[in-house]
Amino acid sequence: MHILSVVGARPQFVKLAPVHRELSPYHQHQILHTGQHYDYEMSQAFFEDLGIPDPDVNLEIGSGLHGAMTGRMLTGIEERLMVDRPDMVLVYGDTNSTLAAALAAAKLHIPIAHVEAGLRSYNRNMPEEINRVLTDHVSDLLFCPSQHSSDILSGEGVREGVHVTGDVMVQALLELEPRLGKERLQRFDVSRGEYVLVTAHRQENVDDPIRLRGIVDALSSLDGTVVFPVHPRTRAMLERIGMLDRLEGRADVRLVKPLDFITFTALERYARVVLTDSGGVQKEAYTFQVPCVTMRNETEWTETVDEGWNVLVGTDTDAIVAAVSNASPGRTEARSYGGLDVTGIMRRIIESRLG
Ligand code: UDP
Repeated sequence: MHILSVVGARPQFVKLAPVHRELSPYHQHQILHTGQHYDYEMSQAFFEDLGIPDPDVNLEIGSGLHGAMTGRMLTGIEERLMVDRPDMVLVYGDTNSTLAAALAAAKLHIPIAHVEAGLRSYNRNMPEEINRVLTDHVSDLLFCPSQHSSDILSGEGVREGVHVTGDVMVQALLELEPRLGKERLQRFDVSRGEYVLVTAHRQENVDDPIRLRGIVDALSSLDGTVVFPVHPRTRAMLERIGMLDRLEGRADVRLVKPLDFITFTALERYARVVLTDSGGVQKEAYTFQVPCVTMRNETEWTETVDEGWNVLVGTDTDAIVAAVSNASPGRTEARSYGGLDVTGIMRRIIESRLG
């Protein structure tokens, strides 16, 4: 069978890696990269580290306003689909690349499988929430990371083609675990259980100077060392509001470029606390059983909160500082999102669907 995966952003490359490994021995699996993320550290480095072949097509769309970006992707993907006519299109997560591919395929009546279906924050101010809802409602196969996400779809009347498969990112992480030795911490001059790992890139946090200031003030007041790989969007905004120098001037805050996946996940594994506004990072901290503090008011990964591994604090400085200092392990084995055969389950479902 001819299956086309459409990806464009960092978290999608992580999800693509185990899917490609699973599908390529059995099927013609092609990769279309929209070019949404284009910096070496945000794109090519993931393909190299995770052993993903170069994309068959790169649309090189780059960044821009949501409408313009999604529109250019839609045009480019449609053109490719009309030429290649794959049997199925695989889309991942909740980015503009996900939505553009889903729309293009739906209009051409090409079956769509959505990897990471049924997630909801119930916050329509997040561009990702719009992308998720629309993608789920045009997909033919919906691969849910947990029973909860399947129940959400059922509540929205989406019941056909819904399967609880577990989460591919968790599989990617568990596969990598043997390569995540403590020696990877050396270059940051930190030791296991003694530092806070930070990421921040959500549009509603970093594009709002008040919320971003709340985060920067918190980072400056945390006890112990902070390791902060700075997303390009966040770096640009910190520079614009004159706060980059302030963080760079602190010896206990290690500001670094976005890290390769193996180094970053090793840092997650050995952190005392992970402080983030990322979806994927919340789930990865949970999988490693590292307490997480999330700088948002809601999460799609509700199991992480229900099981005591994650707390939601928004961007208020005092709330962040208190939560990081009080963070403690949750109550469970943190296994709500499946294990090592997530992609095998997906492949068998795809095969029985396309028959
Ligand atoms: N990540 C990485 N290097 C970094 C920061 C994050 O490899 O410096 C990985 C992280 O492990 C996770 C993914 O990028 O798998 C999350 O991407 P991001 O936070 O950009 O997206 P989200 O999950 O919020 O959609």
